[in-house]
Amino acid sequence: MSEILDLVIVGGGPAGLTAGLYASRGGLKNVVMFEKSVFGGQITKSSEIENYPGAIEVITGLELMEKWPEQAARFGVREEFAGVKRVSKSKDDLFDIMLDDNTLLRAKSVIICTGSNPKKSGIEGEDEFYGRGVSYCATCDGFFYKNKEVAVLGGGDAALEEALFLANICSKVYLIHRRDEFRASPATVQRVEKNSKIELVLNSTGKKIYGDISGVNGLIVTDKNGVERDLKVPGIFVFVGMKVNHEVLLQEDGSFLCEMSKNGEVVVDLDMKTSLNGLFAAGDIRIDAAKQVVCAAGDGATAAINVISYLESLHE
Ligand code: FAD
Ligand code: NAP
Repeated sequence: MSEILDLVIVGGGPAGLTAGLYASRGGLKNVVMFEKSVFGGQITKSSEIENYPGAIEVITGLELMEKWPEQAARFGVREEFAGVKRVSKSKDDLFDIMLDDNTLLRAKSVIICTGSNPKKSGIEGEDEFYGRGVSYCATCDGFFYKNKEVAVLGGGDAALEEALFLANICSKVYLIHRRDEFRASPATVQRVEKNSKIELVLNSTGKKIYGDISGVNGLIVTDKNGVERDLKVPGIFVFVGMKVNHEVLLQEDGSFLCEMSKNGEVVVDLDMKTSLNGLFAAGDIRIDAAKQVVCAAGDGATAAINVISYLESLHE
């Protein structure tokens, strides 16, 4: 049987990286973090961030996160590129961590920091044209539409901020929202309303994305009176919210390892403890998360500090 780790952190976004930093700097020697995609998490897909304390200039998410993995690794966290398939608890009170390639590890404690991923809009053609005109990342794909017209779907912070980013590159941005009031912060709404390259298409929903073998040719939207409009755009950016990544907690019998909310988020207390001893959760994955980088980082630090106390209590 392999070594028993003190702590496994699942997910290398702001919550996971901060948990790793605090756990290792707090004296834990045997800490491994698993990240299946990009160390830095979902914020690396954001084209601008201006609300992280201390970061006065507007910077990209990638720039913000660039040094976080290096800082955590400096204190001894082992950062591994691998997906975790499942976390479960064995009879001897240790955790079994099964990786996507079926490697099995054992740990005394686990912090779940798996965050969230973009939701799909459900519009006909969204899956068919994903990667061929339909995108969930303006920073990644915006440049393909330089001086072209694009559509953005959604009315939250992500949709409006990314519409502003795209307006700097594209000739025109149609911002399609199903209501006439935005969920985004008032300051961002004001910037959007002042931007002459953004046309608001309100009280409207996407009906169909159409195109051909070379990609998207347009999007048909319907307003609340049923009137259709054909927007002939080659690019459609979807920002209609996020869904939490809780799959690692799903057990073979279909139950979850710990208590979950009705929306599928992990229930935690103020120490980021779940209903199961030794299991913690931090960041977007937890109930009532403010879904901000600074909050995810704070959660990660809180979880790590309480993991250290938990491991100490095992020796008492
Ligand atoms: P995430 O950042 O989602 O990181 C989770 C990580 O876990 C991911 O890297 C994922 O690959 C990994 N993972 C998931 N499942 C597994 C698994 N099974 N095995 C291994 N790894 C796994 N917040 C702000 O404060 N300011 C902003 O301006 C801002 N702008 C945003 C713009 C956009 C477009 C988006 C999408 C979000 C924005 N946010 C912003 C929100 C912010 O990005 C999140 O609140 C924050 O990233 C949450 O951090 P996290 O560590 O909880 O999760
Ligand atoms: P969000 O705040 O949940 O907004 C989702 C938007 O999409 C809403 O306007 C919603 O409409 C719309 N929508 C949902 N499903 C739809 C569908 N099927 N078809 C059409 N429209 C649909 O999501 P988000 O903008 O991705 O933000 C997620 C979290 O990250 C939020 O907590 C946000 O504050 C945070 N975030 C923060 C920043 C920042 O601080 N600068 C930046 C980005 C994200 P309704 O309004 O009608 O429900």
